[in-house]
Amino acid sequence: MRRKEHFDAVVVGAGPAGSTAALVMARAGLRVALLERGEYPGAKNVSGAVLYGTSFLERLLPGFRLSAPVERYITRRSIGFMSESALFSLDYKSSSADVPPNYGFTVLRPQFDRWLAQRAVEAGALLVPKTVVDGLIREKGAVKGVRSRREKGELYADVVVAADGVNSFLAREAGLRGEFSLQEMTLGIKEVIALDRQLLEERFQINGNEGVAYEFLGSVTGNVCGGGFLYTNRESLSIGIIFQLSSLLRERARPYELLDGLKNHPSILPLIRGGSVKEYSAHMIPEGGWKMFPKLYAPGLLVAGDAAGMVLAAGCYLQGINYAMVAGEAAARTVIAAAKDRDFSALSLARYETFLREQKLIQDFQRFQKAPEFFLNQRIQNVYPAMICRLAEQVFHAAGGPKEKIRDLAAAGMREAGVSWFQLLKDLIEGGRSIGW
Ligand SMILES: Cc1cc2nc3c(=O)[nH]c(=O)nc-3n(C[C@H](O)[C@H](O)[C@H](O)COP(=O)(O)OP(=O)(O)OC[C@H]3O[C@@H](n4cnc5c(N)ncnc54)[C@H](O)[C@@H]3O)c2cc1C
Repeated sequence: MRRKEHFDAVVVGAGPAGSTAALVMARAGLRVALLERGEYPGAKNVSGAVLYGTSFLERLLPGFRLSAPVERYITRRSIGFMSESALFSLDYKSSSADVPPNYGFTVLRPQFDRWLAQRAVEAGALLVPKTVVDGLIREKGAVKGVRSRREKGELYADVVVAADGVNSFLAREAGLRGEFSLQEMTLGIKEVIALDRQLLEERFQINGNEGVAYEFLGSVTGNVCGGGFLYTNRESLSIGIIFQLSSLLRERARPYELLDGLKNHPSILPLIRGGSVKEYSAHMIPEGGWKMFPKLYAPGLLVAGDAAGMVLAAGCYLQGINYAMVAGEAAARTVIAAAKDRDFSALSLARYETFLREQKLIQDFQRFQKAPEFFLNQRIQNVYPAMICRLAEQVFHAAGGPKEKIRDLAAAGMREAGVSWFQLLKDLIEGGRSIGW
């Protein structure tokens, strides 16, 4: 890199947020550098992953389905409550006339991120992989570029977009955010298990490009607050567990032992049997929602995606990739407008919030602002799922003999779990409020 090389914008991180930002700015004719620490975009990136953003992608890249590395389109979603020996599921299966259906699709991040970054390159962005950005260059209180670990690695720009993921050293260096707290952070661990395609489709009762997303709560994480997932890819399964960090540390649990527990659960083992693990990964997720949003801009700097805590974790939602892309686009529109005015001050970059509101990102996070606290709670993630499962076991038990009233069984289960009717009612009301009922 040449010293004093100057770009209209430098984007740090070629994840969904960064590549989208680079793509939109390059299309508008700006000179954009997209810096990525990995060997290639996506090399180190981890998600489940179901991508819930078909209409956004269709608008950003019309006809994206023809070239995007889509694994499978979700046609069935299931939320399972687990005890050690049983699974009670709420199951939704669509025979929607949508072709393909709009319930999200599974992706493998190394392929998807690489594909998306390539779209930015085609639009004219300069992708520089294997480049770790170490810090910001600041002059007179404004960000003027970044310092990378490369020799003579200073790169100057009118604006820097920090799309460097959950740890975002850049947003922290700029004083926009501090460390996220352990209550707000979760750790996700995941395996990709290769499985013969025909076997996979038979086991999950799917055809063609249909896919399944299972999510689990209950005994799967022991006493640790968290849940599990199992998603179908074309010829593999993604299986993982997500834990609240503070709870994981308190319980001194070993993440991989818990993942083994999920894999060996009697309802899961038959689904993955015969598969071979081809990938392990672990990554943090900022799940605090609206309350953990930092200030999103400073003179010459915008923060997007996980770097700004833009993950919506609210019961049946765990969505971050789609919001990262929406934020990347909003950041790009902000820079394009600022470049027209030649004004990169905080006041000019404040338009970012307007663009985020136009795409309803801020409204989503505000609407669900109480959800993270409510759902990242042991009663919700462990106690109730175990109770539901136990109740189902008792109701379906049919060895003969007198039947008990379901209400009595439920009351006994609640006593056993130490939950009062008052607490249950309170949780129902708070749960409803937290998801904007
Ligand atoms: C186990 C797990 C399961 C998940 N499941 C889902 C799901 O099913 N659906 C969903 O929507 N979301 C899911 N998420 C959340 C989702 O992964 C994130 O919200 C999303 O990846 C955020 O995108 P991003 O571009 O902001 O950040 P990232 O994807 O983290 O990208 C940041 C990029 O910046 C690069 N980078 C970081 N620091 C530097 C540096 N100093 N210099 C240069 N480059 C740097 C990184 O290498 C990376 O490429 C899951 C997360 C985990 C961990």
